[in-house]
Amino acid sequence: MNIMPTSEEQCPHLDLQLEPSPYAAEAGFEWQPLCRRLAATTKSGRRAPSAGSRRKAENDIPAQSAIGEPALSYPAPLVLPNDDLACDPKCPPQSFRSWLYEKARNKPKEDRRTLYVAAVPEITSSMAFMRDWLQPDTASGRSSGGGLKQKPPGNKTLPSPSYEDIVSYLSTFYRGLPLKPFPQRLRFVPWEETRMKKPNIHSTYVGLATRDSCTRIRVRSPPDGVFKGQLNLGDILDAAIEMLPGDAYSLLLLLDHDMYEDEDDDFCCGRAYGGSRVAVVSSSRYHPILDEQVGIEYSHMWPASHCKSYINGLCTVDKPKEQSGDPWATSFIPLRAAIDAAKDIIVPTSQEGLRALWFSRLARTASHELGHCFGMEHCVYYACNMQSTAGMAEDVRQPPYLCPICLSKFSYAVACELQGHDDTGRQLYIQERYGAIITFCDGWKGNGLFTGYGAWARARLDLLQQT
Ligand SMILES: [Zn+2]
Ligand SMILES: [Zn+2]
Repeated sequence: MNIMPTSEEQCPHLDLQLEPSPYAAEAGFEWQPLCRRLAATTKSGRRAPSAGSRRKAENDIPAQSAIGEPALSYPAPLVLPNDDLACDPKCPPQSFRSWLYEKARNKPKEDRRTLYVAAVPEITSSMAFMRDWLQPDTASGRSSGGGLKQKPPGNKTLPSPSYEDIVSYLSTFYRGLPLKPFPQRLRFVPWEETRMKKPNIHSTYVGLATRDSCTRIRVRSPPDGVFKGQLNLGDILDAAIEMLPGDAYSLLLLLDHDMYEDEDDDFCCGRAYGGSRVAVVSSSRYHPILDEQVGIEYSHMWPASHCKSYINGLCTVDKPKEQSGDPWATSFIPLRAAIDAAKDIIVPTSQEGLRALWFSRLARTASHELGHCFGMEHCVYYACNMQSTAGMAEDVRQPPYLCPICLSKFSYAVACELQGHDDTGRQLYIQERYGAIITFCDGWKGNGLFTGYGAWARARLDLLQQT
């Protein structure tokens, strides 16, 4: 029988963390001030003039971003100890304007707008040993020793996220671009140098084959020993560049095998070569069975990651700074709605719930990596799907949505550059996209991330329709 997480003491998630954590200042992270965040959504790079008569006084009403939402309704990146922005607090921001005029950016065009997604490569019979590489060894991983209140959930036989589900999520998230299966099934085959010998678990290379080409992929044993074999993601992305179809805006490869980038890392879950329009994501490390080792606290995954008492508990500062008064508390309706909708289901209690959890994590990362193909760099403005992440514990605290700055980039690429709409058409596109996200999330009611996202999108749509 499977071991399910035991229920933790219920946290009521009363107060919300809307600014960076108390640790952020210690790490040297300075949140972009509101005027810069507003300016970062505009083409001019300056703050848009306020919308006139509806405003009594500038200070009384939450300022709007260029895409029409109250800019104060988005929480800051959390920046907890060991989070990516805590390690790299000076990571430069990419405003809408700098994105817009980035020369290397690929614009979607009529004849180059299809997002291709390739299913996990088939393991051919001579490579059967690669099946063993899919099984996590939960005994050998380094334990975070995080004092978890839960037992490791799931079991090794949990099926990995399905291709259809990923495609369904991405076609919602990247609404407006056709999404197609890559027309060939990829295969793992022996690499020719090792073909003469019998390929085995100690092979240093495997081949990743399409119908008419084969790329050499380096293989190693992961330093933390969680899997028996690990594939080099740079080699996989090189293979993706080779196979990019002519009408492709981008190509995403799905993998169930573990990946690494170079000698310095333990593993990597996803990477994009945005300029080359290719990306790869792996489901391996998102397996819920590994959660205990990396110290994931189930009850505080997004959206409950914005629970103030949880954040203060993770920051070893003597006295948490009092959050400056929050005059726009009502603007945080979307986050509050997300927490209220998700809090009772955020800890999965069934096999189906664990499957959904695994899928939701991969879906979020897949949408992040494809975001790089649209020229979006890592986001430092808000808690956002385009934030960089330093590990699993941080990963599950981040939201699935695009912040107003990232959304202004993506919506401009699709609604304006590709579809030729003006700003009104772009607003409409944004609303339709939220509608599609709500519909998608309604199909995943047992999952905290999607249920939270659905409630968040619904509240956001309400705010947009009010303005
Ligand atoms: Zn990234
Ligand atoms: Zn963002």
